[in-house]
Amino acid sequence: MIQNVSVIGAGTMGNGIAHVFAQAGFKVSLIDVNPTQLERAMATINKNLDRQITKGSITDDQKKSTLANIVTSSDIAVGVKDAQLVVEAATENVDLKLSIFELMDLHAPAGCILATNTSSISITKIAAVTKRPGLVIGMHFMNPVPVMKLVEIINGYATKKEVTETIIELSKQLGKIPCAVNDYPGFIANRILMPMINEAIYSLYEGVAGVEEIDTVMKLGMAHPMGPLQLADFIGLDVCLSILKVLQDGFGNPKYAPCPLLANMVLAGKLGVKSGEGFYTYAAGSKDLVVSESFKK
Ligand code: NAD
Repeated sequence: MIQNVSVIGAGTMGNGIAHVFAQAGFKVSLIDVNPTQLERAMATINKNLDRQITKGSITDDQKKSTLANIVTSSDIAVGVKDAQLVVEAATENVDLKLSIFELMDLHAPAGCILATNTSSISITKIAAVTKRPGLVIGMHFMNPVPVMKLVEIINGYATKKEVTETIIELSKQLGKIPCAVNDYPGFIANRILMPMINEAIYSLYEGVAGVEEIDTVMKLGMAHPMGPLQLADFIGLDVCLSILKVLQDGFGNPKYAPCPLLANMVLAGKLGVKSGEGFYTYAAGSKDLVVSESFKK
């Protein structure tokens, strides 16, 4: 039975993953090369637990026990030595992930399952750098992790059936709804989402409609809680660009080619919420959605 979980990468996703495991009673070792990120992650978890208390979904004691279940480390070798499951949530970069998996494979106990939260990188490719490809799997949480119910579970070419079953059961223990899929570019979530976002950006680029009109049509017409351009800002335009390139390369089909406007915005450093501007502007502390100057009519 899995009790000890290590989470590698304490950024946007890593802190949420550590939070949900710790709240469900697992012992979590949260690891990041950057100690400042570890401090920030613990502050975010603390704040999010307070929000849950305010909403009445957890008690003060549950907050205390969740925090007591998390230890931090900046050394992968130390942080994974007692793990039965490692969930890697470091920066979306193939070479970085391959080197982390080589290191995890070396230091995690035999039998430990190695999962990755990658949005788009091939699970089969990652598994191939380890000596335990049957124990490597995709465990793709959605952002924000404590709120979003879905976990997309991705079977690599060599993933053992028992490993998939274990991760499905574990996701349920976290209160999530798992969905198992196979390992092809973009899996399911991003294979379907990214072409929609790209098409929304093309519609803007070709002057079919403005930012607000495109998002309003999709929100009111299709009952999407957020329009595709706002969602792209939230995900990060650099992340959207990199996933579209994975789809384009992986399928060799020009229909996935990223819109030139998306590529230009990334070159200009307009990355969405995280840089303060994308299709909309994001002033610190403001909840108003204001269309970026570049797209005002
Ligand atoms: P992020 O940039 O917020 O965090 C990445 C963290 O990884 C940083 O804290 C960084 O210091 C750390 N890191 C870098 N190299 C490391 C190393 N060698 N060892 C340990 N830590 C290291 O990124 P994120 O948005 O949290 O994304 C993490 C993963 O989750 C990516 O694979 C991404 O594709 C995936 N993902 C992201 C989202 C999203 O909406 N942001 C959604 C689903 C999946």
